[in-house]
Amino acid sequence: MFLKQIVHFSKKSIRLSYQFQTMSTFTSRTNIVTGNNEWIFVDNDNFDYQQELARSAFADMLHDHERNIQYEKAIIKTLQNLSKSMKKIHILDIGTGTGLLSMMAARALNQINNTSCSSRITACEVFQPMAKIAKKCIEKNDLSDRIRVIDKRSTELNLENDLQGDRINVIIAEVFDTELIGEGALRTFSEACKHLTIDNENLHIIPARATIYIQLVESSVLQEFHTLKNISQQNQRINIPNDCRHLAGNTIFDLNLNELKDSIRPLTKPIPIFHFNFKHINEMNNFTEEKILENIQCNYDGRIDAFIMWWNLDMDEQGEIQLGTIPVWCYDDQEKIKNIQWREHWIHGIYYPQESKIVKAKDQVSLYCFHDEYSLYFDVGTSPFPPRSFIPAILSRSAMAAFNSDKRRNKYIKVLEKSFSSSSIKRCLYFGDGLLLPLLILEIYPNIELIILQSSNTHLNHCLEAILLNSTIKLNYQIISSLDKNEIDFQTIDMILSEPFFTKSILPWDNLHYYYLIQKYRSYFRSNIKIFPQKGRIRCLALEFNNLHKIRSSVKQCCQFDLTPFDEQIMKASLNVDETIEPQSLFEYSSKKPTLSSIIDLIEIDFEKNFYDKIEKKNLEILFIENGICNGIAFWIDYELNENIWLTTGIENENDSWINYSKQGVHLLPKPIYVQSGMKLQISTGFDFKQGQFLFDIIY
Ligand code: SAH
Repeated sequence: MFLKQIVHFSKKSIRLSYQFQTMSTFTSRTNIVTGNNEWIFVDNDNFDYQQELARSAFADMLHDHERNIQYEKAIIKTLQNLSKSMKKIHILDIGTGTGLLSMMAARALNQINNTSCSSRITACEVFQPMAKIAKKCIEKNDLSDRIRVIDKRSTELNLENDLQGDRINVIIAEVFDTELIGEGALRTFSEACKHLTIDNENLHIIPARATIYIQLVESSVLQEFHTLKNISQQNQRINIPNDCRHLAGNTIFDLNLNELKDSIRPLTKPIPIFHFNFKHINEMNNFTEEKILENIQCNYDGRIDAFIMWWNLDMDEQGEIQLGTIPVWCYDDQEKIKNIQWREHWIHGIYYPQESKIVKAKDQVSLYCFHDEYSLYFDVGTSPFPPRSFIPAILSRSAMAAFNSDKRRNKYIKVLEKSFSSSSIKRCLYFGDGLLLPLLILEIYPNIELIILQSSNTHLNHCLEAILLNSTIKLNYQIISSLDKNEIDFQTIDMILSEPFFTKSILPWDNLHYYYLIQKYRSYFRSNIKIFPQKGRIRCLALEFNNLHKIRSSVKQCCQFDLTPFDEQIMKASLNVDETIEPQSLFEYSSKKPTLSSIIDLIEIDFEKNFYDKIEKKNLEILFIENGICNGIAFWIDYELNENIWLTTGIENENDSWINYSKQGVHLLPKPIYVQSGMKLQISTGFDFKQGQFLFDIIY
């Protein structure tokens, strides 16, 4: 049985990729009442796979015109050439999705119309609901007699039974993710070449080859997502030990860097690292490869903070047709920059060296490069570090940035100063998974005794303990394992604090688990105990995204093929999936300014009050104050730390930039609305306190 947890820390798996598959499965969701990610058993293929379909970046990929055009060009060119020299063409489309590339091949063969060359197209697709969609799309375009769809992973195809012994001489495959190899492309090509194809000489693979590039860059913004910085610059009592500084693992951090180019300062030229000829994949040592590149020339003084990775495909044998994810700063042609393809399914990869390294222009550095079957690893130097294997993430990249954000720290400091200025606060209880607030208190307020409730995340506990033990003087704290065990005298506690932050949270208001904990244990404490933060308010804002909405917009026609069966299935899947609000890091996506509406407060929760099992619901209006196309509504939560000082997980003012240290919730409208200033949109919103669910609906 396959346990599948939605990967929240990285977008890597946003396209559909399956290493194993059965139709019985578990799916996970965050329950903010219990604070757990719950595994829900689903005994049929509906809910789980519908969710997978609805949330995948499949539509975005089909909207990627550049990708579609380059594939079709390469297909036409290859088939035209082949039909001149071959009596028989047998095409295998690996990972057919909607059937698009097979249909392109069928159209190309029809146009060539060479009677002396016979042809056959087999398409395979591992994700069964998708294979069904492929069959429907192919039928809709009257190509069922030309294309045979098999719902299997290519590595499970049997030459005799599935291909009737008819060996393949053309492979078409688009099985690449942001990291190129994360969907298992290396094994896919290697196994197909070994078991299903004719001799290498006469085999054509589209694309033929790929090259992975990296560039060494300086970027303090990217560093904030990687290295925990000390609490104070001078006289620090708490010093974060080196082995607790990097808690976000060592796998790819994928970001839309074209939109964040101003935070990147390249120090070297792009450096080609790994080259793959898909006909000759080296499967030695489980598809691993290690390389040390010496004499890499730095062009500027600076600090190597990160490696930016992208790739380029030679679509045809001659390498005349290219497709890649080259970042915008590598182009010098202004016209090309203007027309650069926006895409979410392939973005850029960021990797970090073990330590940032200061370099001077003309310095030469060595690079250690490694890949396994699915992932890439890089470091400065010649030794194989980081370890050539996966290190799990204890904190997400945005949680790392939250710890480091000066703005957020300064706000806490300002409010703590105010709260602790009255001498009545002596003992505080802290809970949650945030490392910042307890460290700030212990560093700055030695007179406060802090009782820390252990996190349910054991890795995080070890880190916190290691950081505290590393301090230069004795700190004023004790750690307790549970509130139920009566390890402390609750009546002596003056204040309860939380950032609030829990590692299992997905949407910003999932951290309201804090509220449920307070309510659960409220009766243990004195009635006049102070609560920090005191309130939460969920807010929203109507937006016109420049691009983000495309990931969920219908495809209809793609390269003159009718893909409405795909749209219908996605629409059905979206309707069956209850959460219409998805987590997104909005700092990565531009939207029209000024915004279409002002910020609207939807619901306010006073953490002192018990709302029991109530469902608070009300109807509200979003008033548009600008003309435009409303294609999305952004949601986030603010916390009132102290009398009217709020900490946001979104924005404070309409035209601010989105904070980069928390995801926001986004509802992408299935049908964008043309709006004019003065128009109103009716919404129904609220909170179901029993289920711990934020409620939102547009009343059309
Ligand atoms: N070819 C389509 C879809 C590309 S997305 C298009 O270009 O529009 C990649 C698809 O390949 C996904 O649907 C995934 O499920 C499938 N896939 C990946 N590896 C596969 C393999 N080895 N065998 C069969 N399907 C695979």
